[in-house]
Amino acid sequence: MVFYRCVYFIFFLTVSAKFVWKHHNNDELPLVLEEVHEKCPNITRIYALSEPSVQNVPLYVIEFTEMPGFHQPYKPEVKYIGNIHGNEVLGRELLLGLADYLCEQYLNNDPNIRALIHKTRIHLLPSMNPDGWQLSTSFGGQDYLIGRGNNHSVDLNRNFPDLDAITFEYERLGINHNNHLLKDVTRLAAPLEPETRAVMRWIMSIPFVLSAAMHGGDLVANYPYDESKSGALASEYSASPDDDTFRELAMTYATAHADMASASRPGCHINSHDDTASYNFGKQGGVTNGAAWYSLKGGMQDFNYLATNAFEITLELGCKKYPLENELENEWHRNREALLAYLWKAHIGIKGIVSDDTGFLENAIISIVNITGPNPKPIRHDVTTGTYGDYYRLLTPGRYEVTASHVGHYPAQRIVTVPQRQSAARILNFKLEPIRYADGALFFDPPFVRYPHFIGEQPRIYKRSLYEKVTNSILESKETPKE
Ligand SMILES: [Zn+2]
Repeated sequence: MVFYRCVYFIFFLTVSAKFVWKHHNNDELPLVLEEVHEKCPNITRIYALSEPSVQNVPLYVIEFTEMPGFHQPYKPEVKYIGNIHGNEVLGRELLLGLADYLCEQYLNNDPNIRALIHKTRIHLLPSMNPDGWQLSTSFGGQDYLIGRGNNHSVDLNRNFPDLDAITFEYERLGINHNNHLLKDVTRLAAPLEPETRAVMRWIMSIPFVLSAAMHGGDLVANYPYDESKSGALASEYSASPDDDTFRELAMTYATAHADMASASRPGCHINSHDDTASYNFGKQGGVTNGAAWYSLKGGMQDFNYLATNAFEITLELGCKKYPLENELENEWHRNREALLAYLWKAHIGIKGIVSDDTGFLENAIISIVNITGPNPKPIRHDVTTGTYGDYYRLLTPGRYEVTASHVGHYPAQRIVTVPQRQSAARILNFKLEPIRYADGALFFDPPFVRYPHFIGEQPRIYKRSLYEKVTNSILESKETPKE
């Protein structure tokens, strides 16, 4: 009893403390989140992902929104993930600082922060790899590789199913099937690590729209694809269908950062003998296409885009992977506006609800053609509606033809102009008419058929129950499937 009282007392002392810029260890990390929650109980919720790290450390998330714990239609969901490589630690501390800042500014009636939290559901995962952090820290934090992987020495940013290979193959074959590709995975290159599985379940279960993962070792905002199409190891631009939008997302972070986009700052690795490693990304606006830098398979960024509706970029936050403690507060000031500007990008483009006379239509497909220029250009990456029939389609300024389709309904089309500066997505709702036969009978939804039936057919979204079954069967498989 005395023990518990003592623990409670220490806990109370800790939670009543002001946020301090330091390297928070794996026991202190949840206490910081708890402190924020105590200060802002109505707009925050703390939860852990479905499974802990190899060393049994929970992967804690803090959520900010009005009505935490619930998805609400028209409210986009955003996430930041820090410390996926255990020895790249700045993102971890920036996310703890951001959590404290969002709460404090909300309490201080900062109109920008109040509007952001009112309109958005924000999830912060400060550490995806607490075991790697512990290992790296035990070795002094300055080794370039120690602690990069998880406790099985697996690089978590190479451990996701390689959906790029699938989308590139479909592209080559002219098959117009370009989203929610997890069910097309037939084999995994390696078993999934617990941290990977936990994050996969997370990103498949919440309808995220926008995301960024934080790394260190360079200073640049990196966008899809990370994997080259030819197999080239480096220097091959690998454009996704949403290249314009991804460039704008990455530029938003880079230009709002203190000097990520500065052409005159020094590059990283200036002592390296490798000239390409010392390149200053500021000369190209502080952004890079992933494969144009170097190609990687099994990354989290491309997995988000190809398995879900989420758009994720990768932030390299500085030359030092493990900055000194006394550098952290200055890094916060250098990143703060960029962190906030990026969260607002969940509100670009269009959003809306697809319904029919009977209610919301889940798994409806939103397809886009860019009609800004003289030649219409389809964006071959559809997004789908969630439980409330709601969709979010990030787009750059321009004119678009938007088609909503759903099995058993006539598709509907509308034209929309996305303006230059947006603090709210344009709302574009669709009410679809069910297909009726001449005798008045309703079209009956066909059973699920594995797509594609033949080349050129419109993509089809899968029955959610089956989709989840496939996801779970992949997640449950601990063994590497045989060729
Ligand atoms: Zn990294």
